[in-house]
Amino acid sequence: MRNLIGRRTWRVVLAVVLMRSAPAFTQAAEDDAAKAAAFIAQAEKELAAHSVLASRAEWINVTYITDDTDAIAAEFGARGTELSVRFAKGAAKFDGVKGLSFDLRRKLDFLKQGIVLPAPDKPGAAQELNVIATRLQSQYGKGKGTLDGKPISGSDIEEAMGTMRDAEKLKEMWTSWHDQVGAPMRDDYARLVSIANEGAKELGYVDVGALWRSGYDMTADEFAREMDRLWAQVKPLYDQLHCYVRAKLNERYGAKVQPATGPIRADLLGNMWAQEWGNIYDLVAPKGVGDIGYDLTRLLVSKGYDPVKMVKAGEGFYTSLGLPALPATFWERSQLVKPRDREVVCHASAWDIDNKEDLRIKMCIKINADDFVTIHHELGHNYYQRAYNHQPYLYLNGAHDGFHEAIGDFIALSVTPEYLVQIGLLDAAKAPSADKDIGLLLRQAMDKVAFLPFGLLLDKWRWGVFSGSTKPGDYEAEWNALRLRYQGVVPPVARPATAFDPGAKYHIPGNTPYARYFLARILQFQFFKAAAEQAGWKGPLHRCSFYGNKAVGERLNKMLAMGASRPWPEALDAFTGSRKMDGSALIEYFRPLMTWLETQNKAHQCGW
Ligand SMILES: [Zn+2]
Repeated sequence: MRNLIGRRTWRVVLAVVLMRSAPAFTQAAEDDAAKAAAFIAQAEKELAAHSVLASRAEWINVTYITDDTDAIAAEFGARGTELSVRFAKGAAKFDGVKGLSFDLRRKLDFLKQGIVLPAPDKPGAAQELNVIATRLQSQYGKGKGTLDGKPISGSDIEEAMGTMRDAEKLKEMWTSWHDQVGAPMRDDYARLVSIANEGAKELGYVDVGALWRSGYDMTADEFAREMDRLWAQVKPLYDQLHCYVRAKLNERYGAKVQPATGPIRADLLGNMWAQEWGNIYDLVAPKGVGDIGYDLTRLLVSKGYDPVKMVKAGEGFYTSLGLPALPATFWERSQLVKPRDREVVCHASAWDIDNKEDLRIKMCIKINADDFVTIHHELGHNYYQRAYNHQPYLYLNGAHDGFHEAIGDFIALSVTPEYLVQIGLLDAAKAPSADKDIGLLLRQAMDKVAFLPFGLLLDKWRWGVFSGSTKPGDYEAEWNALRLRYQGVVPPVARPATAFDPGAKYHIPGNTPYARYFLARILQFQFFKAAAEQAGWKGPLHRCSFYGNKAVGERLNKMLAMGASRPWPEALDAFTGSRKMDGSALIEYFRPLMTWLETQNKAHQCGW
């Protein structure tokens, strides 16, 4: 997570002024350029000042939840909305102005793109949009399903879907959640789409989907094609994984529940949305090679790691690359453990309060493998934030919105057995031999590869909805068609046209763009491969550790330091030597698994 201007307010509201025609005379153009420069200077000044105070208010709120801190954070959120609306409106006035410098044009675009759901400039529209967006979110937050006929909360249902193996109970939880949470949102959602589309048109975009796709230094259509190209690169691996997992589920549940051919029943994959399958690793782990050979949680406990020592280890990864140590204030101000005496938000996040050096993480660290990996991930955000802290305010961001998550994940990928040996957590003699690789890779693929089609289709559905090619009457059918086409999954029961299953996934009622998560999954492997090459790694890619390699750190820092100041292909090039996103690194990383899966799947008819 990053803090720009009160991120909880991004999703709401905008009133807009229509663009005007370009000026006829050179003198007028110069005047306009001067006006644009003054406007941007003012915007950056006000936004920067607001962001520091708003971040402080939000930090206090999430680390000490009371009615008062809620109210203060909400107040700063509202001020942030007011600012972003005012500056997006102001930026749109310069749409017709020709000949602006690269930086001015880029910053004006960023101001317009800062609004996720724009409202049109007519009485009551902004308020109606705000009311609907808030209602959808709170419906999701309060949503419940049932288990054995009794109500069960969203977070409990997520956990239960991950651990239960009773097909009837899974079906009940899946169906009740989708019926009770998703279906009531449909009319609201259709209304939200139509209002926000009007707002997007006034900002100069054909619809909201085009506005969202405009943040990638290419046209909206080019970006949609780019997503398809990346998917085509990685799909063969997904197909093999799907085929293997389907066979295992068929063995486990029998053909009545999971047939040996065709799509997979969505509720059997250990996750409400079938988006990550790691929770059912125990069902698919092959005998003999399924055991990954060491238990990181146990190592952390037996070596006496506490939360501070775990974070020190994470910091040690970055300093080994030649990046500077974290500032003293990081250790004084971060929340590393759950306080005993108050309510806090435990969801891990990384902060840069003053946009300079006041870096922090907020976690409730437990001594286990997951949190060890998460620490490496969160510190990636902090090191990114710090590397670009010399940039002007509007460039304090990742190269595109997939970069920030990809950096954290790329470092987290580096928590390999080799690395654990290097930092003394794992004895070299006990490091898993190559025959354990399949288990390690399969475990990772169950989350990272399984996610890819879901990461792609969520916004594909939304783009169709915003463009009008998918009408409200087809919302449900189109969602299920995309799920079948890309993921090869089907609901456990037939879905009526009145259902609204997309609403049962947070990012739809929450109006959070999703393409970034797909891109981050692709990019992290591309970064990893670049680092391996720079480190002169000769072994299989997935075993690489570049811990301690200063040359990698230096090139990485070049990319990070650019922030959002240049089109992302330049940033990508600075680290990887390529201007194109590329799924082939992911394929190479999982190559041993791919070969193994193909052998396993020989007897099966893959596909659906
Ligand atoms: Zn993150």
